[in-house]
Amino acid sequence: MINAGVGEQEINNILAYMNLPFVNKKKLKNRERNIGKSFEVVAAQSCSRAVEYEIRNSKETDEQWVEVSADGGWQKRGTGHSNNSLSGHVTIVGKSSRKCSSFGVAKKCRFCKNAIRRKVPATKHKCGKNWTGSSKAMGAFLTLKCLQDLKRKGLEVNALTMDDDTSTYTRVKRCPFSVPSKNNTIMI
Ligand SMILES: [Zn+2]
Repeated sequence: MINAGVGEQEINNILAYMNLPFVNKKKLKNRERNIGKSFEVVAAQSCSRAVEYEIRNSKETDEQWVEVSADGGWQKRGTGHSNNSLSGHVTIVGKSSRKCSSFGVAKKCRFCKNAIRRKVPATKHKCGKNWTGSSKAMGAFLTLKCLQDLKRKGLEVNALTMDDDTSTYTRVKRCPFSVPSKNNTIMI
């Protein structure tokens, strides 16, 4: 269900077609939270393996450029005028391994947001908030965070390919370990 990117409504529609009993939204969410921890561990291990491969490959082939590509998105569709998704993500894929080497997720919290707006204490909830800025800024922040994560793991990235997201482009160019660029590739 998580891999397919569908929620409770979609999965219950599928179950209804199959003439199977539906699942309760609350139970499904609890189960998702429990399984989520294991998913995060496995994802981190997978990323570490991909980074190790990239490091090994760059040493063996004596490649001048260690190149990665990055892209991100939001869970809620944005328009030119509003970009208010509660969460966003960025993934970085290594050129040699073609696997996800690093990823980041920025989350706002609906409960906390409503409490601040209504100037009342937030109701008891499991808060996963790690972002307070604008949704638009998530992409740039997460891309930099992922690049720093790769550097910390020992992968010296010196070329980043991405789409024409100018805010991310500017932030990456401004960061202490960056230099010039060509087309959509930033040479770090
Ligand atoms: Zn919260």
